[in-house]
Amino acid sequence: MQPKVDMDFVMDHLVKLLTTPSPSGHTDEVMAMVEEAFAAIGGGATGGSARGGASDGAAGGARGGALEIRRTNKGGLIATLRGADDENQRLLSAHVDTLGGMVKEIKASGRLKYVPIGGASPHSVEGEYCTILADDGRRYTGTILTIKAAAHVYGQEARDLPRKEENMEIRLDEKVKTAAETRALGIEVGNFIAFDPRTEVTPAGFIKSRHLDDKASVAVLFGVAKALVEAVVRPAATTHFFITNFEEVGHGASYGVPPKTKEYIAVDMGVVGDGIQADEYCVSICAKDSTGPYDEGLRRRLVELAKANGIPHAVDIYPYYGSDASAALRAGADIRAIVIGQGVDASHAYERTHREGIKATADLLVAYLLS
Ligand SMILES: [Zn+2]
Repeated sequence: MQPKVDMDFVMDHLVKLLTTPSPSGHTDEVMAMVEEAFAAIGGGATGGSARGGASDGAAGGARGGALEIRRTNKGGLIATLRGADDENQRLLSAHVDTLGGMVKEIKASGRLKYVPIGGASPHSVEGEYCTILADDGRRYTGTILTIKAAAHVYGQEARDLPRKEENMEIRLDEKVKTAAETRALGIEVGNFIAFDPRTEVTPAGFIKSRHLDDKASVAVLFGVAKALVEAVVRPAATTHFFITNFEEVGHGASYGVPPKTKEYIAVDMGVVGDGIQADEYCVSICAKDSTGPYDEGLRRRLVELAKANGIPHAVDIYPYYGSDASAALRAGADIRAIVIGQGVDASHAYERTHREGIKATADLLVAYLLS
């Protein structure tokens, strides 16, 4: 019997992660939550003393629990579970950073111009509520609109205006009419902007929210670690759970792959759409994305494991995609790597997945770690 993944635990943590702002570059708060979660799963005491340590995670972060936890200097986290084979180690990653924005300019009107962080198109955020994260800790809400949003003022132009960055602005929910008044709030160029995730779990088992890419997978890794730790099952090989914080801008796992890693599974959203086999109810296994083919042997083994354990799965080619596994490979890691994850509909827009897809992903990872 394979250890069971506690799906309620996964879903609870997922909602907490989704509702904590974490655009790439602004992840300290969410990483503190991640550290706390792994410390609770691993049974070790929480505290700052475990940071740093050996680069293979061997001695760096033991807290008396089953998981050794350490942080990378750039803010990522690695939780290590010792396995029977300590030489041929395995790495599972998920990224906790998300799309977002940054204040580019304070306009004479007191409204804000912004630049996107990661690949959020203006279409996908038009009308979205957002939060400006001022450097002094104050938070201000606003709405992302076109510069000609009022239909009763701009008529046809309101419809026809091209949706591109220079035509978008943020209307602050503050009584400001000049740049000086906005600055007086503590808002400045360089402040991070978080999009409202609009997280909702429906009775039919769907979870719809922004940023399921890739917080769903972070929650999956919590569930997988908990299943193994609680069942007191040692994985076949020492396994690192790596939560990265710069994936959306391309360099999440370009640093931090422990040196004894032989196999690396980046757990990230599975693509869903026309010409794609996967859906929200299965684990998607990526054969190839824009960065090239992933490891053939790993793909075959994962498909075999899914079949043997009756886990709903599909193999796909992702047309516009790169992952932390590609970042690690490009940075020179000598690893065999692949991407898998629950199918996510409408990625980088109003995303949605289903509890069944999340469960399939967690189940396949548990089966893999025991194989
Ligand atoms: Zn992602």
